[in-house]
Amino acid sequence: MSTNTTSQKPLPEFLQGSKAKGLLIGGKWQPSLSGEEVESINPANGQVISRISIGNADDIDLAVAAARRAFEGEWSTWKPKDRQRLFFRIQDIIAKNFDELAMIETMDMGAPLARTLPLADFCMQLIGFFGSQCHAATGETMPNSLPGKYTTLKIKAPVGVVGGIFAWNGPLMSQWWILGPALATGCTVVLKPSEEACLTVLRVAELLQEAGVPDGVINVVPGRGPVAGQALAAHPGVDRISFTGSTETGRKIIQASASNIKRVQLELGGKSPDMVFADADLDKAAIGAAAGAFMNSGQSCTAGTRIFVQRSIQDEFADKVCKYAGSLKVGDGLDPSVNLGPLTSQRQLDRVLNYIDIGRKEGATITAGGERIGGDLATGFFVQPTVFLGVTNEMTIAREEIFGPVVSLIPFDDIDDGLRMANDTPYGLAGGVWTKSLSTAHRVAEGIKAGTIWVNSYNVLDPNVGFGGYKMSGYGWKGGRSQVEGFLYEKVVYLNLD
Ligand code: NDP
Repeated sequence: MSTNTTSQKPLPEFLQGSKAKGLLIGGKWQPSLSGEEVESINPANGQVISRISIGNADDIDLAVAAARRAFEGEWSTWKPKDRQRLFFRIQDIIAKNFDELAMIETMDMGAPLARTLPLADFCMQLIGFFGSQCHAATGETMPNSLPGKYTTLKIKAPVGVVGGIFAWNGPLMSQWWILGPALATGCTVVLKPSEEACLTVLRVAELLQEAGVPDGVINVVPGRGPVAGQALAAHPGVDRISFTGSTETGRKIIQASASNIKRVQLELGGKSPDMVFADADLDKAAIGAAAGAFMNSGQSCTAGTRIFVQRSIQDEFADKVCKYAGSLKVGDGLDPSVNLGPLTSQRQLDRVLNYIDIGRKEGATITAGGERIGGDLATGFFVQPTVFLGVTNEMTIAREEIFGPVVSLIPFDDIDDGLRMANDTPYGLAGGVWTKSLSTAHRVAEGIKAGTIWVNSYNVLDPNVGFGGYKMSGYGWKGGRSQVEGFLYEKVVYLNLD
């Protein structure tokens, strides 16, 4: 294993040593039953930073059994105040260790420290919000028309064992959308992160143990999607699946979950429209819209990758976006001045370069970027922030989720023309509008068929408010009270008091 010294920063202790990271099952760290391991690669330089054990269906069986035992054991007797105190301890321990977590995420999935370190504030908000939901299982007394003296109560109870399957594009944050509501409601969890980036999930699991999460309440089994992920989605001992990933895999999750009619929440792909009107503050809009597309090197479900620009300002706006793209410093994210890191894997690099090639062949024009970055960065998976002009909404690059730093500028004439194209997509995750007109802002916010709309902003998020998808971007809210409700089920009690 290499000791990465690219940034002259010492390796976090968690990444030192040559022993593979194990699976966490029932409170014990253990190798996978098959003994299979894979290397974790730093996408900034191709160096091995760790080894991890890879679980399969047998490990998933063990983890689900441990989660079931924990769900029915002492954890079920914890009062809301006990779970809330646990959240306070978790918040403390995560805050104390956040710099280390940020560095691990940077080395594992590539997002620069300039992005991962400031996530501390959002992470604290997430933990704090879910900690505030420990008393969420409220019920109601309902009137009834039954003969005699019946009282009817509607109460709520935790759904049970939750399977959490999520992608590699931001595990440091993604895990909390599952851990938070599960711990708040008294559920237990089996997490199946992507083996391509799961080190922060493993480190957080260690910290959760230190914070006092009982054995078996949180289990972690990194493994291949079609093996461990499929086994978790199909497992009869799992009551709910929370999934973040591609629409294609989301469909497989639905099919697998039919085995025991699991509850399912899916956050899937997107091809979000961001509409810029001629009356907008163009400097603000250019930076906001471009940042909304390039953030996390474009590996973001809500990325606003189709920027619709009113035709009269097309050239001026394109210049500003290209200038912004050219100003971004791309490099090893351990350098604090870097804005954009590499793509997470060779596979993702190949996929993004292939889309850039398709865009060229279909007749769009590249006005910024368009190439893999060589030189000092040649061993990493770097692509220049890329801007396509002359794109039509029918082109492949305007229809499919690229998941890289690639944006398409598409002209529109008026609000109806813009909305028609914005909605001509199978996805419905998010959208944006830049305008000084209140009326235009309202019409677009109402008109775009998607779960989140930003006006004169992009990608802001509050855990108490949350977000969700529409159409092929999935269903089930993330954040807010309604997500917590999804970890509870309702039952009614008919009390005959005669
Ligand atoms: P996937 O949807 O395949 O992966 C997401 C998670 O699902 C991973 O943990 C994966 O495991 C797991 N998984 C894969 N197949 C199955 C299965 N049959 N049953 C259960 N779980 C499974 O996304 P990819 O990583 O393959 O990325 C491909 C593309 O998907 C990206 O380029 C992007 O366009 C899109 N995507 C969108 C995301 C979003 O947030 N909108 C997030 C991630 C990807 P493993 O990693 O081991 O395969």
